[in-house]
Amino acid sequence: MAKTASKQINKAKIKPLRFDTDWQYDPAPESAAAAQIEPEYGLFINGKWQKPDSGQYFDTINPANEKTLSRIAVANEKDVDRAVRAARNAHEKVWKKMAPAERGKYIFRIARIIQEKARELAIIETLDGGKPIRESRDFDVPTAAQHFFYYAGWADKLNYAFPQKKLNPLGVAGQIIPWNFPLLMAAWKIAPALATGNTVVLKPAETTSLTALKLASILQEADLPPGVVNIITGAGATGAALVEHPDVNKIAFTGSTSVGKIIQRSIAGTNKRSTLELGGKAANIVFEDAPLDQAVEGVVNGIFFNQGHVCCAGSRLYLQESIAKEFIRKLKDRISTLIVGDPMDKNTDIGAINSKEQLNTILRYIQIGKKEGAAIHQPACSLPKKGFWCPPTLFTDVAQSNRITQEEIFGPVLAILTFRTDDEVIEKANNTPYGLSAGVWTDKGSRIFNMTRRLRAGVVWANTFNKFDAAAPFGGYKESGFGREGGLHGLSPYLEINS
Ligand code: ADP
Repeated sequence: MAKTASKQINKAKIKPLRFDTDWQYDPAPESAAAAQIEPEYGLFINGKWQKPDSGQYFDTINPANEKTLSRIAVANEKDVDRAVRAARNAHEKVWKKMAPAERGKYIFRIARIIQEKARELAIIETLDGGKPIRESRDFDVPTAAQHFFYYAGWADKLNYAFPQKKLNPLGVAGQIIPWNFPLLMAAWKIAPALATGNTVVLKPAETTSLTALKLASILQEADLPPGVVNIITGAGATGAALVEHPDVNKIAFTGSTSVGKIIQRSIAGTNKRSTLELGGKAANIVFEDAPLDQAVEGVVNGIFFNQGHVCCAGSRLYLQESIAKEFIRKLKDRISTLIVGDPMDKNTDIGAINSKEQLNTILRYIQIGKKEGAAIHQPACSLPKKGFWCPPTLFTDVAQSNRITQEEIFGPVLAILTFRTDDEVIEKANNTPYGLSAGVWTDKGSRIFNMTRRLRAGVVWANTFNKFDAAAPFGGYKESGFGREGGLHGLSPYLEINS
């Protein structure tokens, strides 16, 4: 009898647990109350909050529930002009004359205040943009602070960065940023500009302006001289007015390739300098000798991280034929465990899509993928009723010429293709209009060096993906843009360098 009982227990023990149906994490929500969001924001010009000339405001909403978070001013041409004048005045009278070590102290102070307000900034980023709080808290905000720390260190050492050269700041930098990493993109742009003695007019994206506006109050708290950084809000027309303003010396832009082309046309024939960081269609390449479970994690991180709202997202997966079947099985298992939902919950892996427009773009591409004959796989998951959501999506049986292989989708959608040889995968990986990033997964160091040399991408990760550091330059080839941000390379686009 005892024997039968133990048999029964053993049987009960071996029933496999299904992560998605048998158990779940308890909710672990971050509190929105820990962040202060004003009901209305003006424009931050010359160190003060100012009303927009147009008198117009627009709502910024939380994409996870479509509720209005705040009202934001629309800057028109006159406002842009006021901001550029303030930046010019601050440049001539204060910032370029200031001892570099003093400039560095202000930048350090900004970094420290970002650290002090890290929790609040992370909450605002998540409420306004829809990305999981875990990501805002562990990546966006600390990396933004890191950029200010890093460039603060360079402010009084530029002569070591460019020995035997005469260095001058360019003057006023017009900076336009997108909605995928709002605070981090502001830091990428502002920190090197200030360290090199330039002043700034920054325009955040219209759907995610709140952390840039919070940064404005941090600049006030840091006592940054008025006009050194001006933050103006609005949509494309505001950005265009900034690009066209005759007294701007440099345009730094991160966003879509189509707007990048408009900007290039608009500044052609002027002596404005520019750096453009545009779209991407990164190839993540997995060889048969790669550690497969690790690679699955890397692939998931590469495309589903931040809902695929990443220009360098690994949106094309190339699998060596011998491991393709096994890898796809592992990948399907893994994505069935991803938690899609409330971005404020610390367990959430995939948050809300940033806007209705972006969701529509993603859904349109999913239809295109189906029509092109690719096989779709989406794990069963219940999505919230309100807000903008897209489950992690895999496409197999994809052809190199398909639009889902060639065009940037900017969502959690992965196109999976196969290859046999190194030469074949190089050819396929390089065959898109973009060249921002790529990933290689293999056990062999020699193969890593061979691939990284031949892949036409600004950043190539090996046995990892989506790793960033303030000291590492970032930027693209081909239609992914030009110029580098980050590291020592990030200083020169803001300097006049003469021998
Ligand atoms: P995305 O497709 O990622 O939204 P966009 O290129 O449309 O990227 O937007 C990136 C940034 O460029 C945003 O701040 C947006 O307001 C701004 N922008 C859009 N159109 C223009 C334009 N014609 N000139 C300058 N900036 C623009």
